[in-house]
Amino acid sequence: MANKAYQFRLYPTKEQEELLAKTFGCVRFVYNKMLEERIQMFEKFKDDQESLKQQTFPTPAKYKKEFPWLKEVDSLALANAQLNLQKAFQHFFSGRAGFPKFKNRKAKQSYTTNMVNGNIKLSDGYIKLPKLKWIKFKQHREIPAHHIIKSCTITKTKTGKYYISILTEYEHQPALKEVQTVVGLDFSMSTLYVDSEGKRANYPRFYRKALETLAKEQRKLSRKKKGSNRWHKQRLKVAKLHEKIANQRKDFLHKESHKLAKRYDCVVIEDLNMKGMSQALHFGQGVHDNGWGMFTTFLQYKLVEQGKKLIKIDKWFPSSKTCSCCGRVKESLSLSERTFRCECGFESDRDVNAAINIKHEGMKRLAIV
Ligand SMILES: [Zn+2]
Repeated sequence: MANKAYQFRLYPTKEQEELLAKTFGCVRFVYNKMLEERIQMFEKFKDDQESLKQQTFPTPAKYKKEFPWLKEVDSLALANAQLNLQKAFQHFFSGRAGFPKFKNRKAKQSYTTNMVNGNIKLSDGYIKLPKLKWIKFKQHREIPAHHIIKSCTITKTKTGKYYISILTEYEHQPALKEVQTVVGLDFSMSTLYVDSEGKRANYPRFYRKALETLAKEQRKLSRKKKGSNRWHKQRLKVAKLHEKIANQRKDFLHKESHKLAKRYDCVVIEDLNMKGMSQALHFGQGVHDNGWGMFTTFLQYKLVEQGKKLIKIDKWFPSSKTCSCCGRVKESLSLSERTFRCECGFESDRDVNAAINIKHEGMKRLAIV
């Protein structure tokens, strides 16, 4: 699925303009009200993180009793104000943004509503929106029939013009690309993968550093008395580090998968069962933390987006024991043997040899050998 937004100029009547102004005002009112309540909550529980976590977010519905005029406007717009505030808090907690601010009258005049049970319709130069009924708009381009409307954002500019941005979702099927370049990847515990050209993806230094710090802080946590103040503080520290590491890893996996999906038409990997593998080989947590599963998911969608391919070959294929030069299969190969040596005279790094075999196996599947 892919998204595309279409923007058009809106021409509301005087009455519709009044209702739009009221909606912008109500959305701002509800946003500020919820923010105010959150701040009070923070102050009340500032020394009690656990209780704070258990507090539920205020909802627009509860204000409707106290302020009945809120019922006059689109309730979906108010629900989106709540979502926006939640997002603002998420950004604040993850360190991506400052503490959410109150919206004053000078703030952007805008609100978002959603498509629910066909409440939004387009017909002949008019668009039907909740509460507003049909509004005239200038549709200078068609929205393709296979696009589904998800939401609409209505904005009033500083100069008094109205615009609507219609967000659509559609099935994206790019033309298949002819396979000319293929690469094989061998899973690697320490570096994520080794490819058939001999390149290794290496986690950046700062990421490894952060992992060490995490291990240290976790040891500290385990020494603190469970439930004590110091324990809570340390737990928060560990949680923050976890989040930071998860973000760094995700960034790295995005970059690596992007690079491969750009360079190659087809990527071949082994279909590993990570859980079984980590248990069988007693690798412990490392295998999960390595991010291979997330990496292959990113790789898959980045390739498919461009009409390219990800091929997963059978996990029982003897990629390590096979000579990538002559095809002989060794009876045994211990994990400690880092160099692959064959009777035919071929010698190579063990992982690179495996990656080449994986590549060849993928090419057999594609029938391009
Ligand atoms: Zn050989």
